[in-house]
Formats: sequence, structure tokens, C-alpha cells
Amino acid sequence: MSIYLDYTADTPPDQRVLCEYMIAAGEHFANPNSAHGAGASAKKVIDSSLGKIAKLLKVSPEELILTSGASEANNLAVKGIAWASRRRGRHIVSTFLEHSSVSGALTYLQEQGWEIDLVNILPDGKVDLEHLKSLLREDTVLCAVCAVDSELGTVQPVGEIAKIVGGHPNCRLHIDATQAVGKIPLDLAGVHTASLAPHKFYGLKGSGLLYKAKGTVVEPLIHGGASTTIYRSGTPDTASAAAFAAALEIAAGEFDERLERVNELNQRLRQHFADIDRILINSPADAVPHILNVSVSGIKGEQMRRLLDERGVCVSVKSACSVANTPSRPVMAMTHDRKRALSSWRISLSHLTTDEELEQFAAILDEIISSN
Ligand code: PLP
Repeated sequence: MSIYLDYTADTPPDQRVLCEYMIAAGEHFANPNSAHGAGASAKKVIDSSLGKIAKLLKVSPEELILTSGASEANNLAVKGIAWASRRRGRHIVSTFLEHSSVSGALTYLQEQGWEIDLVNILPDGKVDLEHLKSLLREDTVLCAVCAVDSELGTVQPVGEIAKIVGGHPNCRLHIDATQAVGKIPLDLAGVHTASLAPHKFYGLKGSGLLYKAKGTVVEPLIHGGASTTIYRSGTPDTASAAAFAAALEIAAGEFDERLERVNELNQRLRQHFADIDRILINSPADAVPHILNVSVSGIKGEQMRRLLDERGVCVSVKSACSVANTPSRPVMAMTHDRKRALSSWRISLSHLTTDEELEQFAAILDEIISSN
């Protein structure tokens, strides 16, 4: 039996979420865009799901665009804002901490002539706000920052960033909130777009969402019929919308108890690691407790991942979508230490992680370190 410590890459779907999915998929299979009664009843499920999501995010349902995941939502925001504002400017500011669905979209735009600047990361993992201020210009049309990054779990000061960006009327703020939901309270005040994906909070894969504040103009990625929104053509997935709403409601309802349990597990691991000289903890002390990024000197991250996997422990080196055997960009940006960035790997915890799993993992890790 394996010890799964990769909840940042994916979480197991909650039974209640699966139940909602099954009911909606079975009973409301009709196309929500169809004009007949069956279509209308499917549309009702979408509307009520978006209503529940909007209430929890404290936004309006018209500001929500259902997507196939956070990667699509990030691409829609980054490319969509860039294309829609290309006459106002072609300068974008982002960070070294972004998921590949943001950094990859930025590289694509750079190849098309956009200028990209990356803001420095302070030793505590936070965006250097003074540097951010100095990078923003009249022709900056987008600032893209992850609320919580997937490698280190650093929590960025989104409110302060929103205030700074708010002083630049041509600039829109995109927040990748994929790793934030269920881990920190999310405040979208001053944010123009934000991406979410329920498979990170015990919902289902293949489903995501872009929050787009009223008045923010984005160019769609997928053109076609108007569907439930002009920003995303295609038949909306009624069952995924219902499952999304259920996962978000459960994550909000059980937020405190889940967080308390994960905090306890994180503290236990940090205490254990404090006695091992070769372990350096990369995640800042105030990172979300769900993510614990470490480096073991003398063992590359990929080698450690393999050694753990051979013993039944699932962890990740960088995020699941990044290029293998290259130094971690976030660890490098924060520590400026290439060896440490090459040795880094990520443990990610859940309220579902048991005491026994944690103890077994610690024993396996001790054995690997002493024999390598
Ligand atoms: N953004 C962040 C911070 C992530 O961690 C992930 C997934 O790992 C994504 C975006 C992409 O999400 P999805 O797999 O739903 O496209």
C-alpha cells in the first residue's frame, strides 16, 4: 500500500462530490443551451451551482466562467487580457513562482512581441513589493501572481498587490488561486481575474473556473456559440458544475478542522526534520501547512522522488507539469542556491493523512538519508 503525500498535485474526490456528479450527470444530461424543458432543467443546475460558488467567493454568478481546469482558466486570463489590451500596451509583470500554465502562456506572448518582467522574490518567498512598484509602467496591461505557489506553498500578499496594481488604471491583476482554495481564506477584492480548480480541493479533474470581475475585458480562447457565456464556447458540463459547487461548499464548511489537522501534521514533520542536519526546509515558516518543500544535501530531488517511490511513498519534484531534472524555479528565486534548488522536492499533506502514514514516511526517509 502506498503512502500518498502528493495532495498538491491531486486530491481524492469526496464521496459527496461524486454523489452530486452522478445525480446531475444522470438526471440532467440534456444540453443546457437547448431551448426545451430538459435543457432548461440542466441550465437550472448550472445556474444554481454558479450561484453557490459565487456566494462562497463573494462575487456575482455572471462573473464566473466554467473551464476545463485551472490551466485553461490561466490561459484565458493571461492571453485573453493581453490580446484584449494590446492597443494599450504590451508589457506584463509576473513572478518566478508561477505554474507552467501561467509561465508558458507568458512565454508564448513573449514570442509574439510582449515584454515580460519577473518581480524579485524575497528570502521569505514573498513578492518584493518595492520591485513590483518599480516594474509597473503606463503600458503594463497585466500583473499575474499566484496566491499560493504549488512548490513552496508561499502565501502572497494579494491585498497589498491589488492596492499597488489598482494605482495603474491600464493594468489588470490576475491571481492563480488554484492552490489557495481550502488552504487560505480567499479575498478577491481588487482582483480582475482568478483561476480555480476543484481537483485540488477534493473535487473532480477536468473542471475549473475563471473569475472575471465585471468590466474586465478578455478575448476568448475558444470561439463559437455564446453558450452560457460568450467567453467560453462549448456545451457546459452540468455535472462538473454541480460537483464543483459541492466541493467548494464542503471545503468552506470544513475549512477550520481540516486546516488544524494539516497544521498539526506539518509541525510534526518540521520537528522531525529539525534533528536531521542534511535536511533544509525550503518552504517559508508561514507557508500553507499543506506544502512542505525540502532539500536533502547530496541527493537530487528526482533521485529522492524515485527512492521514495520504490518504497511506496508518493511525493513530487516541482509541480507535476514542470520539466524534469532542472532546478526548481521558486527555490532558486528564493535562495539563489542552484544545488539546493536541484535537490528540492515537495511533500504535500492532507487532513486525510494518518499518523501511521506520517510515522512510516519519516522512518523510510531516515533510512534513505542514512544509506545515500
Ligand atoms: N495553477 C497551479 C498553482 C497549480 O498547482 C495547478 C495544478 O497543479 C494548475 C494551475 C493547473 O491546474 P489544472 O491541472 O486544473 O489545469
